[in-house]
Amino acid sequence: MEDHSIKVNFCSSEKEKPKSDQLQFGRVFTDHMFIMDYSAPLGWHDARIVPYQPLSIDPSAMVFHYGQSVFEGLKAYLNPDGEAQLFRPEKNLQRINRSNDRLCIPPIDEEYALKAIKQLVAIDKDWIPEAEGTSLYIRPFIISTEAFLGVAPSHNYKFIVILSPVGAYYKEGINPVKIAVENKYVRAVAGGTGEAKTGGNYASSLKAQELVANSGYAQVLWLDGVEKKYIEEVGSMNVFFKIDGEVVTPKLNGSILEGVTRNSVIELLKYWDIPVSERRISMEDLRQAHQEGRLEEAFGSGTAAVISPIGQLTWNDTDLIINNHETGPVAKRLYDTLTGIQYGKVEDPFGWIEKVREPSKVKS
Ligand SMILES: *Cc1c(COP(=O)(O)O)cnc(C)c1O
Repeated sequence: MEDHSIKVNFCSSEKEKPKSDQLQFGRVFTDHMFIMDYSAPLGWHDARIVPYQPLSIDPSAMVFHYGQSVFEGLKAYLNPDGEAQLFRPEKNLQRINRSNDRLCIPPIDEEYALKAIKQLVAIDKDWIPEAEGTSLYIRPFIISTEAFLGVAPSHNYKFIVILSPVGAYYKEGINPVKIAVENKYVRAVAGGTGEAKTGGNYASSLKAQELVANSGYAQVLWLDGVEKKYIEEVGSMNVFFKIDGEVVTPKLNGSILEGVTRNSVIELLKYWDIPVSERRISMEDLRQAHQEGRLEEAFGSGTAAVISPIGQLTWNDTDLIINNHETGPVAKRLYDTLTGIQYGKVEDPFGWIEKVREPSKVKS
């Protein structure tokens, strides 16, 4: 029987931690990381927590050439008792396996991976910043490492988890952003990899983002890749509109990434008895709703910002100003409740919080 315990090799000296008010996103990493390897005969093996360090990988490794890789993003939060806690981490692990399936990467054991993430967070718990709105970002990812230039699924992989203390997303309060509707480039198409969390989707989105950033927009609104009529996502977030008292989000169609935050928003709205529906929604329908004064709110949802209100949508030559550039009541209530649950300040009626035990208990 193989030994599946996680070996731990502690770092010899700890790095200096950044000050809570100077944190950015994803620039600084903690003292340790988790790695396990995959090879065709052994399966996933050699699980270990080691000092954070560069990897040594063959230049012909497949990930560098054909992009066979997947990733996840979630956060660890400190609750008022000083305990570390995760928000629906099992959802991220289920999703990495769906992404794995799409990219022909062998599945990981979700329970085992969750145990590894919790142990890593427990070891680096002192890196979770304490200031309001800050957290420890957790980035699990898998890369194909076989040294081979043939186009085929790799026989070797690494599953790695790194941690990064991140600052508050909204330093001056939650503020609506300007979004440009993208008519030329598309992020994903049904049948492609849009519903998988894989680097290629991001690589292909950079161009559109760069062009609109030059004109002062925060992000693009992605339309469907076939007719360029139907709304899909906003930047790397899912998108919601409140029209006539009903909250609407595009129905999952194979090219939309199924966000954990999206799912949580839908569940909360149902819990509050606010009408919510997942359906196809065209840009023309949205424009008409706006013209008739029925478009009440618009916002994006994702782990990084949680809720990101949209104050303006520019579509060709038309500017749709939404809720007078102000955060709407539903967006605000969702933001306060979700962050309240995540930081352990609001009751969690759904069982979404998963506590991380202290290292002493993890080791016994
Ligand atoms: C990760 C991601 C989201 C948001 O997912 P969450 O699980 O809510 O963080 C939305 N769209 C895209 C394209 C993404 O990659």
